[in-house]
Amino acid sequence: MPGTENKTAKGKAATHVRQKHALLVVNPRARRGTGSIAAARDVLEKAGIRVTEEKPAAGENIADVIRRNAEGHDFVMVGGGDGTLNAAAPALVETGLPLGVIPLGTANDFARTVGISAEPAKAAETIAAGKLQGIDLGEVNGHLFFNVASIGFSAELAQDLTEHAKKRWGTLGYAIVAARILMRSRLFTAFVDHDGTTEKIRTMQVSVGNGRHYGGGMTVEETATADDGRLDFYSLEVDHWWRLLALLPSLRKGTHGRWDDVRAFQTTEVTIRTSKPRPVNTDGELSTYTPAHFRIRPKAIKVFVPAG
Ligand SMILES: [Mg+2]
Repeated sequence: MPGTENKTAKGKAATHVRQKHALLVVNPRARRGTGSIAAARDVLEKAGIRVTEEKPAAGENIADVIRRNAEGHDFVMVGGGDGTLNAAAPALVETGLPLGVIPLGTANDFARTVGISAEPAKAAETIAAGKLQGIDLGEVNGHLFFNVASIGFSAELAQDLTEHAKKRWGTLGYAIVAARILMRSRLFTAFVDHDGTTEKIRTMQVSVGNGRHYGGGMTVEETATADDGRLDFYSLEVDHWWRLLALLPSLRKGTHGRWDDVRAFQTTEVTIRTSKPRPVNTDGELSTYTPAHFRIRPKAIKVFVPAG
């Protein structure tokens, strides 16, 4: 029918294809700096995406920058490591803007979980390709996390691993500091409320994962994903600290749940109580204390991920 064809052609002509506009925020203390970001920007600009970088004003954090500039942008690109993504999370949830990840950190565990390249220019290609996926976030006492939240050994590790050690030693820094903390680790008692039950445990560390990778080469659970609607809980209930050395290969692969001295389960909500308040580490930063109420926030944000 010629009439219909005519209408369609007119409709197409009237559709104005607006240029996409990305807001770029970069952690100024990122391990890999300006050269990597320039390469990533180049890829996006060549793909026809307008990129505007905004920096924090005095007293502002990454989330504030995103909130202040949300209007007029189609998505946010965050340049940094897992700590930077964690800092951006509240603003991403509030504004609903999709997230493009430009990995500039030491470990880039979240990027690895969703298959984004650690190479900033390649990560930019993923953003330019435009495939979005709903991604879950974990939440503990109102603090969001991408990868994992831990109480015990890991929380102490983050406290002791200074920015200086991270920059100087990279992944090796984790190993050195971890060995030092192992030597003085003690078990503690915790009550774990989940799925209608309460378990009393003696543990060295409790972790609650949203994604798969954390801590620069560790794995929460080998099949865990950041979009399965589940939290993966595990607790290291070892008799001696040196048991952890035997468990280490499994902790890296995410198969530790098979051992007798590791308690592991999946859930959507769990509360951990201890006799004295203990720090909770979320994606490498101390953010809250026990009692710690964890819950999953299914598909809380949209993230550009590689196709296929
Ligand atoms: Mg999950």
